[in-house]
Amino acid sequence: NNNSPQFPNSKASMLGMVGGGQLGRMFVHEAQALGFKVTVLEPEAGSPAAHAADVHIQATYDDAAGLQQLADSCASFTTEFENVPAASLAKLAETGFVAPSAACVSIAQDRIEEKAFFTRCAPQTGILPAPHAILRTATDLENVSADLFPGILKTARMGYDGKGQVRVKSLDELRTAFANLKGVVCVLEKMLPLAYEISVLVARGADGQAVVYPIAENVHRDGILFTTTVPSPHVSADAALKTQNAALKLIADINYVGVLCIEFFVLQDGSVVVNEMAPRPHNSGHYTIDACVTSQFAQQVRAMARLPLGDVRQHSPCVMLNILGDVWFENDSNIERQPEWHKVLALPSAHLHLYGKAEARRARKMGHITFIAPTLEQAQDEMQQACAILG
Ligand code: ADP
Ligand code: MG
Repeated sequence: NNNSPQFPNSKASMLGMVGGGQLGRMFVHEAQALGFKVTVLEPEAGSPAAHAADVHIQATYDDAAGLQQLADSCASFTTEFENVPAASLAKLAETGFVAPSAACVSIAQDRIEEKAFFTRCAPQTGILPAPHAILRTATDLENVSADLFPGILKTARMGYDGKGQVRVKSLDELRTAFANLKGVVCVLEKMLPLAYEISVLVARGADGQAVVYPIAENVHRDGILFTTTVPSPHVSADAALKTQNAALKLIADINYVGVLCIEFFVLQDGSVVVNEMAPRPHNSGHYTIDACVTSQFAQQVRAMARLPLGDVRQHSPCVMLNILGDVWFENDSNIERQPEWHKVLALPSAHLHLYGKAEARRARKMGHITFIAPTLEQAQDEMQQACAILG
């Protein structure tokens, strides 16, 4: 029976994870802490999750033999990134419980479907996506409303950390940028006057019970998440309630099982716009490992195993700082150095997480630090000190 719980520390305690990145690694840690075992399907050798997993199947995400081996060894399956082929998840669903489902993941794989979903639910949520146009062919460009400039051209699929995005001020710039993408389907979004950005992390169990975490406030640099602060210093009680309720409505609408993170923009006039969603734990939810009763990864484990979700209560104010590969390099040089972790770890509120990636590269997520302190001010202050140490 697909709805009966999968028990840890039993013969059937193997969980299947598609993807081997840091999200998979943190999932493995939480799964093992709960007494589960994990098999990771990941083509790369020595990936962050494969290092931690009980079993690593080294195969591509659509490899029939690899998927069969995964299917044979696990009773439930999840993924750590949205670009897993939907057909792979559908295959795993033939023999086991897949959370989130292929149908839910496929919405989040495509900005066009995602925006259509948000728009369809807007009568219930009261929140719309940014004004946008869908660009499939060069002729579509000529029909773009002048009101969408200045705008951001985004590839409909496979974008992350600001990749696949070009800012365009005019139709001319749009033509050039679109041509450079060589026929990839895109979305042109109006550039909005953001006051700040927030995300809402929700989880929903197989029994339909859902939980919502506090609002996380996110600062991005060069399109990549830089810090997450919880509680959000800026969000009003109204906007918090509105976005949390919207997240709960969205997750229920598609009968989603698992962890989902929804990004929102709060504009300078106070209005709220929904940006995108991730069908998995999210970088802005890493703080839950150190600052909440139940982390987003533990919820992912519980949801796929059809166990009750845990308490989302936050017990300490916190700031999460992402560690990019840049801190391994001095200023603009290519000379690699060791970041001064001993100084970071001397900060009393710093919880350091490194993902075990063999090679540091600029703009590559290598780890994060969560600062959890008695007051948000102290956490923020120590985050600033860590930034100064890491240079
Ligand atoms: P990704 O998939 O790379 O996270 P996003 O759509 O979330 O792509 O965009 C990355 C960042 O770019 C956002 O967090 C925000 O800071 C900025 N951004 C994206 N779209 C807009 C927009 N329409 N107006 C203003 N800023 C935007
Ligand atoms: Mg984003």
